[in-house]
Amino acid sequence: LKIELITIGDELLLGFTIDTNAAHLARELAAIGVEIERRTTVGDGAEEIAAAVRDALDRTGAVITTGGLGPTSDDMTKPAIAALFGRAMRLDVAILDALKERWKARGWPGELPVTNEQQALIPQGAEILVNNHGSAPGIWLEDDRGRWVAMLPGVPREMRGMLGDALLPRLRLRVGDARVVRSRTLRTTGIAESALADRLAEMAGGFPGLSLAYLPGLDGVDLRVTARGVSAPEAERALSDAITRLRERVGQHAYGEDEDDLAASVLDLCRRRGERLAVAESCTGGLLGARITAVPGSSAVFVGGIIAYADEVKQRELGVRADDLARYGAVSEPVVRQMATGVRERFATDVGVAITGVAGPGGGSPEKPVGTVWLAADVRGRVSAALARLIGDRDEIRRRAAQGGLNLVRKEMLRGEG
Ligand code: ATP
Repeated sequence: LKIELITIGDELLLGFTIDTNAAHLARELAAIGVEIERRTTVGDGAEEIAAAVRDALDRTGAVITTGGLGPTSDDMTKPAIAALFGRAMRLDVAILDALKERWKARGWPGELPVTNEQQALIPQGAEILVNNHGSAPGIWLEDDRGRWVAMLPGVPREMRGMLGDALLPRLRLRVGDARVVRSRTLRTTGIAESALADRLAEMAGGFPGLSLAYLPGLDGVDLRVTARGVSAPEAERALSDAITRLRERVGQHAYGEDEDDLAASVLDLCRRRGERLAVAESCTGGLLGARITAVPGSSAVFVGGIIAYADEVKQRELGVRADDLARYGAVSEPVVRQMATGVRERFATDVGVAITGVAGPGGGSPEKPVGTVWLAADVRGRVSAALARLIGDRDEIRRRAAQGGLNLVRKEMLRGEG
């Protein structure tokens, strides 16, 4: 099944909103064997929308739109496409009642604004795609020649929900047992892309029928394997074999798959070992703590942290010695070690992680240029430290530093286990 995608919204054209809907739809559809043949973005105008949908229908007869379903006057998708199909609009009483209920349930004052009632207007003969995450219902409109348009909301969370709940099941029935495109990603960190490539080059046999992509990012290098043009079970089997073999090759540099975060893998390790964790951060200013607490269930393991930005806080709250600060500077091995041990002792945990560095753009020196970051992990009193020379702007250096801190403590815990 080949389809066309039209994403709607002036803000997409202006570049204020990044078209994440298109990327998400492409991946999800490929996974069930539906191919997006062409992608178009148009503004909010009714005529532009109608023209784009008309052209797309002429080519493929199968179109998905996102955006412009809301209650405001710039939301022209529904009337524009209904007019194209020659359908009048009717008021759907059930939807109107549900909208009123929803308004009340959210505790908003007064009655449902008249503006919202527009959302209960449905083209004659259309089917409703349920929205379990928002108010605007999606629409499936099909003509007597079997040409169809599925209209999804623009808000990414609502679009994703409706896609999974209502549209994918419907399309799966149409495509049946199709050839699919599926991917899996192995996440690695602490190893350069070229070093990874060297390791993988020696792999006997490679990955028959699969493609392998190296995707470097702030967290490390992701390895993505993709299967194309096979049935879903065949794809799953080939991908799972490939991931197993990749893991063997990459060893401890691999910490997870797909969307996994290194923080979650550190927390898992702590949980398994019955250890608790605390952090001391200077240049990352809480980023490490934020990464850790973003993981559900982190409270079982993570105790807290100190943002020791100023030297006096490093001294007073973490017990870093004033003479070491004066002699070696705040970004130095002796200081980062004392920070890790200081926070572990003061928070009475088993593990302490510390980060101190020069995030820039100012503050660098010939000996300690911007991007110089010291990391330390104290695991039950055994302290290890590492110097990282990170690249990028302030934001990138801070994010790489947080990832480096997590990687160091993970390595140290694994090393302790032999
Ligand atoms: P609502 O019912 O909230 O009005 P809608 O269906 O009318 O939703 P839009 O008004 O077009 O959708 O967009 C709502 C918001 O969703 C936009 O502010 C934008 O942030 C986001 N959005 C819209 N289209 C996309 C897209 N293609 N990719 C990512 N985000 C998008």
